[in-house]
Order: sequence, then structure tokens, then C-alpha cells
Amino acid sequence: MAKARIGLIGLGVMGANLALNIAERGFPVAVHNRTTSAIADFIGAAGDLAASLVAAETPAALAAALTPPRAIIIMVKAGGPVDATIDALKPHLDLGDILIDAGNADFNDTRRREAQLKDAGFRFIGMGVSGGEEGARHGPSIMVGGAPEAYAEIADIVEAIAAKYQDAPCAAHLGPDGAGHFVKTVHNGIEYADMQMIAEVYGLLRNADGRSPAQIAALFDEWNGGPLQSYLAEITAKVLAATDPDTGRPMVDVILDRAGQKGTGRWTVIEALKLGQSASTIEAAVGARSWSAAKDLRETGAERLTGPKTSDPGPVLLDADLERALLSARVIAYAQGFSLLAAASEDFAWDLDLARTAEIWRAGCIIRSALLDDIATAFRGELPGDSLILAPAFARLLNDNAGALRRLVARASLSGQPIPAMASALSYYDTMRHARGTAALIQAQRDFFGAHGFERVDTDGEGHHGPWGL
Ligand code: NAP
Repeated sequence: MAKARIGLIGLGVMGANLALNIAERGFPVAVHNRTTSAIADFIGAAGDLAASLVAAETPAALAAALTPPRAIIIMVKAGGPVDATIDALKPHLDLGDILIDAGNADFNDTRRREAQLKDAGFRFIGMGVSGGEEGARHGPSIMVGGAPEAYAEIADIVEAIAAKYQDAPCAAHLGPDGAGHFVKTVHNGIEYADMQMIAEVYGLLRNADGRSPAQIAALFDEWNGGPLQSYLAEITAKVLAATDPDTGRPMVDVILDRAGQKGTGRWTVIEALKLGQSASTIEAAVGARSWSAAKDLRETGAERLTGPKTSDPGPVLLDADLERALLSARVIAYAQGFSLLAAASEDFAWDLDLARTAEIWRAGCIIRSALLDDIATAFRGELPGDSLILAPAFARLLNDNAGALRRLVARASLSGQPIPAMASALSYYDTMRHARGTAALIQAQRDFFGAHGFERVDTDGEGHHGPWGL
């Protein structure tokens, strides 16, 4: 068989589906996996596409199956396995070959790997891929970081396998070194926030309003036809409508209420704090998953701590209010995510194109939603202060709908329902509505106990002190 155009290592869920996607688009792929039995199993199950797949039992065989400059996608577990895979490949590579990490890497690792491989004469691309198993197979959203000339050599493949939004590929080279993986990390952070806010609305409807999963499914299905249209609203409707075949109960009721996390949400929060930012809706969502893991504490708390009971009806919730509240909170979560991208872009001199980022999230990825086209349009226009909440269309949307978010937060609080992400969205909105906040008091306290000094409103310069000793 002729040499393959591209190689792929890691035939797990994502790698196997990505390899089939590439083969289906007409690019022969050489495939390798650490556990070699998976290679024959994979090709054996590939049907007609097997003709475009080349089995490589070793890293040496993989290198031999490709013509230099080689391009090899690594789709293995993030962290040490990526370094181990690179180390195993390196002796078989030629200078100028391109390694592409398509897993969910910590962008700090991507920056380190890119620098080390560059010193050794190789090229490295950090490529964020979103869309899960289905996306990998039929069209994910792809966020690329690395040298533009390296990307140019694989751009035809990446654009061919990516999801399409009105025929335009949802793939883009966004910046150097770790830019692609950083954008993917923040994408996942927004995903955490959106999922959490949806779960909070579900909790209100279920516990305060007493509605059944099937009724709530119908509501999400209806909302998915309006401004809340999104993949997450769509699957929420499907999940809530599902019944457990073993017990006949709603599927959601037989699932243990402890949510896992693999790291990207936490990384978003850590990187935000390092950049002096706070993506509070994402922080709340990551925190809520940690709280969900404290099952024993919650079980004891349910017995010992008082507050409105979940059986109390609480104030009536209007469906239209819930829809508008969720829309406002979603806009705020996106705005915080994009502000974080802007801050990182500035700090790392990436020159990220935020409009393009929004465009490649319009299809293929988990947070795809009707809002993203409007977000791209907003970033293409004039944005005072770089924040999405100040773009005329979104300021209008928030002015029209944030009242519903306020009513929801009040009602949730009075009926004893936790809504950490929605409440943090409202606090962010209210903070940004106040030209003068309360930090003057913080500054006075800091100066009182630590002589930190402060700026005055009526004089230039820092280092002023208060009359605390008087
Ligand atoms: P997976 O199904 O668990 O597969 C993991 C792959 O990594 C397998 O091929 C495994 O090889 C390989 N691997 C593990 N440890 C290794 C090591 N020390 N050396 C070499 N290879 C090793 O994982 P996945 O879901 O496809 O995820 C792959 C990457 O994509 C991860 O970074 C993940 O975060 C990211 N991702 C996943 C999704 C998703 O929805 N699943 C979405 C976007 C991104 P063996 O067969 O030998 O164990």
C-alpha cells in the first residue's frame, strides 16, 4: 500500500472515531496504539474504511508508513501518556516532522512541549477537539495552536474532518503554542457553567415546583426551539425524557447525584485566577461538582440543617421567566469565558481572534448554540471594554431579561434551592452595573492593618494613607 498521508496514535474513543473520520474524507491514515491488539480490532471493525487504514504495530512502523515531513496525531490520555508517546516516537522522526496533540492537554504542557520539540528541530501543534465521540466521527469543532506554517501542512485534513456551519469548517488556527488548547479549556469551562445552570433550573422545577422529569423535558424541548437553542438544551430534553429499562423510573432518578470532572473546568478557574480574572459562573460550576461529591456531608446536612423543605411549594415559577433567566445567565457565562480568552491573549501575546473563536463553536462542539452567531457578530463590531455584556445587542438582551434572572435568584433563595452558578451570574451582572463599588472599604481595611496605601478619587498617585491612628 502507498504511504499514508497522516498518522494517528491512540485508538481510544476519540482517536478511533477521528481516524475513521479522516479515512472517510479520503486521507489514508496509519494507526498505532500502545496496546497493539486494539489496532487489528479497530481495522477489523472499520468496514469499507479499512482500505484507507494502515496498521502500524510499533512507533517505528508508524514513522515508516508516512512520508516526511510526517504529521502524526496523538490522541491519548492527557498528561504523562502524551510525553511517553512523544518520547517513543522521537527516535523515528526526521527534522521538520509535525506532532499534533489532539487530546485535552493543559496548555502549560503544550507550551513546554512546543518549546522542547522546536529546540530538537520538530514542529508541534496543540489541537483542541470538541464534540465527543459523535463529533470526532462526523465533525468536531477544532481549535488549533502552533506555528502557522506547520498548520498549513495539515489544514486541508483538519478542515475536511471538522463540523461545518453553513458550509464553513468549524476549525481554525487561533494562535501559537498553547493557544488552541487554552481555547479548548475555556470552551470546556463554559460547558461546565452551562450544564450547571441547566441543572439548577431543573432543580427548581423539580423540587420547588414539583414537576416531573417528563414535564421538564417537554419544557427544554420547547426552549430548544427559541433563543436557548443549543446542543445542551437538546440533550437535556432527551435525557429527562428517558426511562430506565430496568425499573421503569425516570432515568435521571436512578443516577447517583455525584458529578465527576476530568480537569478542564478546574484548569479554566486556575488560569483565570492566575490572570487576575474571575470567571465566577465557571468557578461556581466547578465548585458545585465538588459539593456534589460530598454526598455523606449532604446526607447528614439534610437531617441536621434547617431551611425551606424541598416539599414546600415555594413561590410559583413562571416558565417564561425561567427561559429568560437561563438566557441571561448563559450570556454572562459566555461573556466571562471570552473575557478570560481576551486576558490570556493579551498576557501571552496570542492575538486571539474572538469572533473566529465564536464562529468555530457554532457547530460540532458541546456548547454550540444559537447565541454563538450573535456573539461572533458582536466581536466583529465595536466592543466597548472588550466585554460581551457591553456589546449593544447583548446589553439590550441583558437589560430585557436580567430581571427574570433576579426573580429566579430570589425565588430559589426563598424556596431553599441551591443555584450557585445562576446567583454568581447575577452578582457579576450587578457588579458591572455599578460604576462605584465597595472596594474602597477593602482598600481602607488593607491600609488599616497592613499600611498597603490606596489611591484617592481626588488626587493622582498611589500610596495615600488613612487617619487610622487618630
Ligand atoms: P480513552 O478512550 O480512554 O483512550 C485513551 C487512549 O490513550 C488509549 O488509546 C490508550 O491506549 C492511550 N493511553 C493511555 N495511557 C497511555 C500511555 N501511558 N501511553 C500511551 N498511550 C496511552 O480516551 P479518549 O476519551 O479517547 O480521550 C483521549 C483524549 O481526548 C484525552 O485527552 C481526552 O481528554 C480527550 N477528549 C476526550 C473527549 C471525549 O468526549 N471522550 C472529548 C474531547 C477530548 P491503550 O489502549 O493502550 O490503553
